[in-house]
This record gives sequence, C-alpha cells and structure tokens, in this order.
Amino acid sequence: MTNTLITGANKGLGFETARRLLAEGHTVYVGARDEERGRRAAEELGAAFVRLDVTDDASVLAAVRTLEAAGGLDVLVNNAGIEPRRPDGGFVDPAAVTADDVREVFETNVFGPVRVLQAFLPLLLRSPAPVVVNVSSGLALTRALADPSAPEHFYPDLSYPASKAALNMLTVQYAKAFPNLRINAADPGFTATDLNHNTGTQSVAEGAEVIVRLACEKEVSGTFQEGAGVLPW
Ligand code: NDP
Repeated sequence: MTNTLITGANKGLGFETARRLLAEGHTVYVGARDEERGRRAAEELGAAFVRLDVTDDASVLAAVRTLEAAGGLDVLVNNAGIEPRRPDGGFVDPAAVTADDVREVFETNVFGPVRVLQAFLPLLLRSPAPVVVNVSSGLALTRALADPSAPEHFYPDLSYPASKAALNMLTVQYAKAFPNLRINAADPGFTATDLNHNTGTQSVAEGAEVIVRLACEKEVSGTFQEGAGVLPW
C-alpha cells in the first residue's frame, strides 16, 4: 500500500495528480486548507481528505497525526502554491511590491513545503521507498528569464519566480541531506488553472504528467524536471 498526500489537491494540478495517482493504486489523501472544498474534492475522487494549511503549524501537525494513524506516509506532493495577481488577473506593479508581499508568497511556496516536509519526515523515513515531489515552475529558470526570445523573459511578478527558484535549491539540498529520499522538483508547464485565471496553454492532464511521473520515481533525486525530462537550471 502506498500512502500519498497531495497538498492543495482540491482543484487544479493537485486534483488531477490525485486522480492519476488513485488510478495507479495509491491511497491518496487530498490535502486542502478549506474543509468544505477539500471534502467535496475527495468525495468526487473517491479519496481520503485531510485538512492541511501549509502556512499553519497546528494544521500540519494534525495532518501528521492523521497519516500516522492511517499507517504512515510514502509519497508527499508539495503542490499547494499561490501567485499574487490583481483581482482582474493582472500583475501587481513591481514598484508597489513590499517585503511583506514577498514574504506572503514565500510563506506558501517555500516555507510551506519546508514546514510540511519537516513535519512528515519521521513518517517518510519509516517508509521503505519514500518520495517527495516539490511542484516548482519553469519561471525558476534564470536562463529562460534571461533569454529575450523566451516568453518568460519579462515575467512581471517579482516574488513568484524567486519563490520557485528557492524551492528548487531546497530540493537539491534535501536530496543531499537525505539519501534514502527520492526528492525532485517538477515544472508542470503553463497550465490553465485558477492560479493564472485559466490563461495557461496546457490542460491539467498535460501539466500533471511530470508530477505523477516524479511521484512514482524510483531512482533519481535532486533533479528539476519538466514533461520532456531533466531541466538544467
Ligand atoms: P490552483 O490555484 O488551481 O491550485 C492551487 C491549490 O493550492 C489550491 O488547492 C489552493 O487551495 C491551494 N493552496 C493555496 N494556498 C494554500 C495553503 N496555504 N495551504 C494549503 N493549500 C493551499 O493552481 P495550480 O493547480 O496551477 O497550482 C498548483 C501548483 O503548480 C502550484 O505550486 C503552482 O505554483 C504550480 N505551477 C502551476 C503552473 C500553472 O501554469 N498552472 C505552472 C507552474 C507551476 P484553495 O482552493 O483553498 O485556494
């Protein structure tokens, strides 16, 4: 039995990843910060639900107790993430972005995965084949941001690319610190979800492909991968 927890799985890429891993035979726990949205998604999928806000220690520790009682954790998908946008979907003026604004994005996208991973580490290290996937972004690639012909060349949000670059480096460091863990970062590609007001050019089925592949990874650790394979970054 493979016990799998996906954070932010009530919709978007997390929901699709849950659907796919259930089909692979995993016992999936849909992590969601909102009880109603999470229970509804879990019911629709035929999965279990666990309330989990990645910015809140108490909810993460309660989720650890739930998984411990359920027999442990084998696969953790750190998927929950936010991107700051104006209500109309536009980007915030970089000149107006404060340190608190950046901190808020890092709280979910960087400290969230650290908080969740650190809390679940004792359970993961008890698994015979522990796996972690950190859902990152192609916007973490400085070479894409530096290439004037790349669509990411000027991405008008300050904090989101930086948060995903930090997540990639944490992935490398965790891989070195825990050789028994297979931990990799995934770039799903530009996918139509609420995060980008559904402007993404891929379907969630396409975006979830690499997340699912890395959730089933048996060999490599410390890599950053897109659908087509390993990304040098
Ligand atoms: P969605 O907005 O559809 O889903 C994000 C999920 O994260 C929601 O379930 C949301 O919950 C949850 N979430 C946000 N904050 C928290 C929190 N504090 N605690 C728990 N859950 C939280 O976006 P995507 O599916 O697109 O995003 C999933 C991941 O993929 C993110 O990490 C994102 O950065 C990454 N990504 C997405 C790309 C894309 O083009 N879509 C491209 C590259 C990376 P709620 O419903 O309660 O808000």
